[in-house]
Amino acid sequence: MEKIKMTTPLVEMDGDEMTRILWKMIKDELLLPYIDLKTEYYDLGLEYRNETNDQVTLDSAEATKKYGVAVKCATITPNAARMTEYNLKEMWKSPNGTIRAALDGTVFRAPIVVKGIEPCVRNWEKPITLARHAYGDVYKNTEIKVPGAGKAELVFTAEDGTEIRETIHQFTGAGILQGIHNTDKSITSFAKACFNYALDTKQDLWFATKDTISKKYDHNFKDIFQDIYEKEYAEKFTAAGIEYFYTLIDDAVARVMKAKGGFIWACKNYDGDVMSDMVSSAFGSLAMMTSVLVSPDGVYEYEAAHGTVQRHYYKHLKGEETSTNSVATIFAWTGALRKRGELDGIKELITFADKLEKATIQTIEAGKMTKDLALITSLKEVTVLNSENFIKAVRETFDKL
Ligand code: NAP
Ligand code: MG
Repeated sequence: MEKIKMTTPLVEMDGDEMTRILWKMIKDELLLPYIDLKTEYYDLGLEYRNETNDQVTLDSAEATKKYGVAVKCATITPNAARMTEYNLKEMWKSPNGTIRAALDGTVFRAPIVVKGIEPCVRNWEKPITLARHAYGDVYKNTEIKVPGAGKAELVFTAEDGTEIRETIHQFTGAGILQGIHNTDKSITSFAKACFNYALDTKQDLWFATKDTISKKYDHNFKDIFQDIYEKEYAEKFTAAGIEYFYTLIDDAVARVMKAKGGFIWACKNYDGDVMSDMVSSAFGSLAMMTSVLVSPDGVYEYEAAHGTVQRHYYKHLKGEETSTNSVATIFAWTGALRKRGELDGIKELITFADKLEKATIQTIEAGKMTKDLALITSLKEVTVLNSENFIKAVRETFDKL
C-alpha cells in the first residue's frame, strides 16, 4: 500500500520520561508504516530545553503559529527535585505555560468514551468537553491578611490620575482581602475560541458564571460572550444547527448532571479547574482525556491531558515491565493529523485518523487494555497488556479495518 502524503509539516514537540518512550512506539508502529510523515521536530525533553536555555520551547511555539497545527508529548515542569536530577541551569518554566502565553489560547478537554469504561453518571452517553479560560481571576490575585480594625478600599488610578474608589469593608477586627482582575482582551479571545470550537465540532456551547451576585465582574464575561455571539456567530450557529446558551453556574451544574453529554461547557478559570477534574474522573481516567489548545486565530496544539508518568518510567529504567496507557497520546496524534488533513484538503489523512481512533477504541472494547483500565472496566473478559503490546494490538485491529 502506498503511504499517505502530507503537504504541510506538523509541528512535533517531543517530551519526557514514559510518554517519550510511548511517543516513539506510536510513531514506529502506528504512523510511519502508513504515512509519509512530514513533521518539523522540536525536542522539548528537559535535557534539550536546558541545553538551549528553553529557546527550543519558544521556537516550537513560533513554528506552531507559522504552520497552524502542533502535536505535543507530555513534558516535565521542573521543580527543586528536577533541578538536581537533570542538573539544570535554571528552573525553566512550564512549557505548556510558555506555549499557552505565546498562542493566547483556551484549553479544551474531552474524555474518550469506550464501552466497558462507564461514566459514574449513568445518563452521560456522550463526552462533555470542558473549555477553561486560562487567564486571571484568583490565579493572578493579590491578597492581604488584615491584622485588625480598619478600612479596605478598591482603588483604580487611570493614566491621567483620575481615581475610582469603592469601599470594600470597614473592618472591626482581623480578616482577609483579595484583589482579582481580568481583561476584556483575554475574555474576548476566550469567547471566540469557544464559539470557533463549537462550530468546528458541531456541539452546543454552554457558558455559565455567577452574574446575579457579581453584577460587574461576572456580568462582563456574560456581556462579552453575548455581544460577540450576536455580532459574529449567531448566523453560523443557526446554519450549523447548534445552540449557544448562557445560564447561572449553579443551574449549569444541575443541568450537567441530568444531561446526556455531547456539548461544550465553557467555564471561568476557577470553575474550569474544579469542574474539569470532576468531569474527567467521573468519565473514568485521566489517561483517556484529550486536550487541545485553540488560539483565537485558529492555531491548534494537541496533547494528552496527563503528565510524563514518572513512576512508570523509573520502572522502565530498571528493566521492569510497564503497562502505561497510550490512548490519549495516540488521540493527540490523530487530532493533529485530522486537522492537518482538513486544512490541507487531504482526505486520506482524515480517514486515517478516524480509523486509528476507531481501532484504538475497538481494541479496548475487545477486552485488550492496559492495567489502569483493567482496574475499572465492567468487561468480564480482559487481557492486560504491557505498554508495547497494547500499541501492537491497536495496530492489529487497525490492519483488519
Ligand atoms: P502524571 O504523569 O499524570 O501521572 C500521575 C499518575 O497517574 C501516574 O503515576 C499513574 O498512576 C497515573 N497515570 C497518568 N497517566 C497515565 C497513563 N497514561 N497510563 C497509566 N497511568 C497513568 O502526573 P505526575 O506524576 O504528577 O507528573 C509527572 C510529570 O509530568 C511531572 O514532572 C509534571 O511536571 C509533568 N506533567 C506534565 C503535563 C503536560 O506536559 N501536559 C501535565 C501534568 C504533569 P499509577 O502510578 O498509580 O499507575
Ligand atoms: Mg485542577
